[in-house]
Amino acid sequence: MIREKLKDIKSGKLSAKKNIENFLKMIKENKEINAFIYVNKDALKQAEVVDKKIKHGKAGRLAGLAIAVKSNINVVDMPITCASKTLENYYGVFDSDVIKKIKQEDGIIIGMANMDEFAAGMSGESSCFGPTINPACPERVPGGSSSGSAAAVAAGMCDIALGSDTGGSIRNPASNCGIVGVKPSYGRVSRYGLIDLSMSFDQIGPLCKDVYGCALMLEIIAGKSDYDSISYDKPVENYTNFKKTDKLKIGISPDFEKLCKDKRIYTLIKNCAEKLAKETNSKIKKINLKYVDLAVQTYYPIVYVEFFSGTRKFDGRKYGRKIEDSCGEEVLRRIIGGKEISKAEYHGMYYRKALRVKDLIKKDFDNAFNDVGIIIAPVTPSLPTKLGDKINPEEAYAFDAFTIPANLAGICSGVVKAGKIDDVPIGLQIFAPAFNESLLFNIMKKWEDLNI
Ligand code: GLN
Repeated sequence: MIREKLKDIKSGKLSAKKNIENFLKMIKENKEINAFIYVNKDALKQAEVVDKKIKHGKAGRLAGLAIAVKSNINVVDMPITCASKTLENYYGVFDSDVIKKIKQEDGIIIGMANMDEFAAGMSGESSCFGPTINPACPERVPGGSSSGSAAAVAAGMCDIALGSDTGGSIRNPASNCGIVGVKPSYGRVSRYGLIDLSMSFDQIGPLCKDVYGCALMLEIIAGKSDYDSISYDKPVENYTNFKKTDKLKIGISPDFEKLCKDKRIYTLIKNCAEKLAKETNSKIKKINLKYVDLAVQTYYPIVYVEFFSGTRKFDGRKYGRKIEDSCGEEVLRRIIGGKEISKAEYHGMYYRKALRVKDLIKKDFDNAFNDVGIIIAPVTPSLPTKLGDKINPEEAYAFDAFTIPANLAGICSGVVKAGKIDDVPIGLQIFAPAFNESLLFNIMKKWEDLNI
């Protein structure tokens, strides 16, 4: 759809202005979805400028497309609130690396999307601006923390959205809202300008209704930046140049099966793996990921400590309010927990131990990828909760059991639609080795083509 739309815009069949107008109308008419915290007042004017460039044959690769941005990614002159009272009145003073690249390619930032406060969540309910509604299934949560990004795509309020994924925040809402989402390999995309949740894991990535849109966006935002030392100096491949893939070895893991609480989800995913194998002349191989059951327990101490450290700048002097006085329950839990774990008397014991297990999980995946090309898994172990349902932190954290391993291992992972259970969208998660996004996109595209 994105490929066709770009053709229409280029040929003049659809103007950039008209494209933006259509989305602004959708946003206005569907306010109750609460996907946006802020809508760009200059979007139409900017579209007119792009239309002129198109006429002169000088427009970039995202010309006229509407891009929604998660509210933890700095965009100049837009409110970068992280959906928190702490930064309620904070406006971006510079463009993040990813935003610079989008603007260079003539994408139009349509607005700042709703999210879980400081990206610390998995339901989309912890925003100080109120919960995001799931357009694909209004009685269930949209997933988080990139809830507004996913909802904006699913409800037809933008072409492509940016989210951030620390432990699943792109893939989880993509799954719940029935769209496509990609977490790039750690270091593939510059994090410069992203307000971090946990600097060892954060990656910015795309959400879209189709694989082409995600591949195109990643092609544009990926690459080395002088402003982010962990961004990797490796050429960015042509992700939109999809290649035929067959005779693969597809890995599935009984370790995920054990952890999957709703067995209907695992059965659906297994059926998808079999279908993919059949259509690509591939073989399914069982792989051993013996440490993945420790993923959640390993991830949280690291996130708590890094989040505590990252939030010390929110002391009420330079940016907004003092975080401890203005944030919600989950954010405060992480700050207090992170402070406790970092106490000098523990000599970094918990943090260091967690880093060691992180290595074991990475090795698990390295070994598995010696045997198979890709790995298939569910996105969540159970159906998304009903909107407003109260669950305890352990239950909430367990929702990320299948997405966190990719962040711990630094590999790339994408979500496409698997089907529905009880009328709730369910995503299919595909893992590929670090920096093999091309393979990931080829498989995702193949799956999409099989199911259109
Ligand atoms: N739900 C996970 C957490 O709360 C992941 C968040 C994310 O990926 N930003 O930490």
